[in-house]
Amino acid sequence: MNHIPIVDLKVNYKALKVELDPVIKRVIEETCFINGEDNKLFDEEFALYCGTKYSIGVGSGSVALDFAVEALGIKSGDEVICPTHTFTATAEAIVHQGAIPVFVDVDEDTHNIDPKLIEGKITHRTKAIIPVHMYGNPVDMDPLIKIAKKYKLKIIEDCAQAHGALYHGKKVGTLGDVACFSFFPAKNLGCFGDGGSIVTNNKKIAQKIQLLKDHGRFNKYNHQEIGYGGRLDNFQAAILRVKLKHLDSWNKKRRKIAEIYNDKLKNKYIIPKIPQGCTSVYYVYTLRSKKRDQIIAKLKENGISVGIYYPVPLHLQKAYQYLNYKKGDFPITEKICREIFSIPMFPELNEIQINKIIKCLQEEL
Ligand SMILES: *Cc1c(COP(=O)(O)O)cnc(C)c1O
Repeated sequence: MNHIPIVDLKVNYKALKVELDPVIKRVIEETCFINGEDNKLFDEEFALYCGTKYSIGVGSGSVALDFAVEALGIKSGDEVICPTHTFTATAEAIVHQGAIPVFVDVDEDTHNIDPKLIEGKITHRTKAIIPVHMYGNPVDMDPLIKIAKKYKLKIIEDCAQAHGALYHGKKVGTLGDVACFSFFPAKNLGCFGDGGSIVTNNKKIAQKIQLLKDHGRFNKYNHQEIGYGGRLDNFQAAILRVKLKHLDSWNKKRRKIAEIYNDKLKNKYIIPKIPQGCTSVYYVYTLRSKKRDQIIAKLKENGISVGIYYPVPLHLQKAYQYLNYKKGDFPITEKICREIFSIPMFPELNEIQINKIIKCLQEEL
């Protein structure tokens, strides 16, 4: 039986082998692994892709969030609003600065932070909001931006799942003060290890992050401030430069597959709802069903991989216990966390695989 993975990095590599192998060989032969020419060029190319003035390559999406929060001057005692339905790195970045994550529930249709619930969470300590474009579907940013303006809050977009997604024609990553991307291998744009980037139009923020990621260095032996070892490898930058050229066509393929899934599965499952004016890039394709656990068992029996992004919301994780949230605090998130499951979604998914997945999901349980 042919197993269908949730994402197939092997077929992706095979298709790009002729482009990637010479580049990898070149980087090795040049032995330029840190702060190389590919780093510089990838930063330029990714900024151009996003439509921002600056892109700063860093070691991962998680440290991108760390540096963004630190660069905005968020510090001990400050509060930062983020969804409880996200990956832990979103909130970790807040905690790393000694600040307090303030969780907000999601909208049941989009699974993204519900802008209507944000204002009720704002206090005199609130400094920023981190909207997360979950599953590649843009957050409803207009009301969120309005609130941020009214209360003078910064916006850090977590774009780790949404490379190339559009909100009313604008790329995600251009809608707030600063935005963070992950190039974890399975992401829409992934490298061959850990990687990330921060994009912004703000020169001061860009300069600050440039310092933070490289030990506060302003030249080889002089350190202007305390920073970190948080650079993106030149090797990863070189790989990302090759892959970036394919990102739009890959995202298009993901949308085509999503259309087929939507059409064939809408009668039996709650399918992803993409609001008017939003273009999702389907990092994952997430369905909902009350019979989630049975369905997952059945898919697995048939050799089809399934993911849950994410089964336990942050407010119920042991790591955030100290914030004193409890079960029932975020009912929509808790409900969807029991019902969501994600089926294979990657650009190279073929017709035979798609049909097999659909057939398995259409059969009565
Ligand atoms: C993947 C991801 C991150 C972290 O990125 P890494 O590159 O794995 O550190 C942060 N936020 C969200 C929403 C993610 O999906």
